[in-house]
Amino acid sequence: MSEAAIEIRGLEKTYAGGKVALHGIDLEVPRGSIFGLLGPNGAGKSTTINILAGLVNKTGGSARIWGFDIDQQPRNAKRSIGIVPQEIIFDAFFTPFETLELQAGLFGVPKAERRSMELLRAVRLEDKAHAYSRTLSGGMKRRLLVAKALVHNPPVLVLDEPTAGVDIELRAQLWDYVRELNALGTTIVLTTHYLEEAEELCDRIAIINHGRVVANADTRSLLAEAGDKQLVVTLADRLETAPGGLPCKAVLDAGGHMLTLTYDKRRQTAGEILAALTGAGLAVVDVSTQDADLEDVFLKLTSPSVASAPA
Ligand code: ADP
Ligand code: MG
Repeated sequence: MSEAAIEIRGLEKTYAGGKVALHGIDLEVPRGSIFGLLGPNGAGKSTTINILAGLVNKTGGSARIWGFDIDQQPRNAKRSIGIVPQEIIFDAFFTPFETLELQAGLFGVPKAERRSMELLRAVRLEDKAHAYSRTLSGGMKRRLLVAKALVHNPPVLVLDEPTAGVDIELRAQLWDYVRELNALGTTIVLTTHYLEEAEELCDRIAIINHGRVVANADTRSLLAEAGDKQLVVTLADRLETAPGGLPCKAVLDAGGHMLTLTYDKRRQTAGEILAALTGAGLAVVDVSTQDADLEDVFLKLTSPSVASAPA
């Protein structure tokens, strides 16, 4: 049995019109984590989530939720996951309380085990319990969808772009609640195209772009990569190969005159790097530096042409 909360292998999706949304992605979401699926619009995040939810049929690969294969054990797989969809859709003629009771009924949760009021309290909608859903604000509707995703007490909660159109205060409340759920043992997956959001909340981040996973690492190592600084030097003399023995990574451009030196700005200074170059007998005619942050790492990984030219 799989140890991962979600295990995706070679997942492919080609939509009816011929659009290839997923080119065979592999992902593993560790149990107990808050996992961020990050990527620009159109990357394939919702397609991935909707396949897990059983709303979109994959065209290749496999997926397991809490160890249950979505094809072979679809009922168990579905019971193991709660999904808050990107689009807000539900029946406006039911009250929030009725919405949760109906959803619990769909999952076969016995009356005695339903927690509709408790869930409404948790998402701060108790005073709207018996109002028509159509009278709720956008933020309230989204919170209702979170409660709805939790009626069957799934071990995995997936939120697809949960803060789109949600104001800052509500966003903070939502995150507090997500953290609370996680502390109580729920594995959380959230998709977002906001870096700061993923950075603040997630233990682990996968970045997808054009239907491919381009990074998958714990947040700390992604940030460590973001802590790298680059020094681009123009050399007086042409080199055949990048010099060895420097205290940092050195990459020579095709022309042999430009050297990109990547170092950890928390441990080294540009002065030390330049001194090492001089010590190696290299004459420097020009220098520029570049600070990377998570945004740069993200852009670098998701830009159509991976350019590393100096700024
Ligand atoms: P994301 O959620 O990361 O923004 P999506 O998974 O929604 O990305 O979309 C991935 C790609 O698949 C996009 O190019 C999108 O236009 C396309 N796509 C999504 N849904 C459909 C659909 N029902 N039919 C055809 N193409 C679709
Ligand atoms: Mg989406």
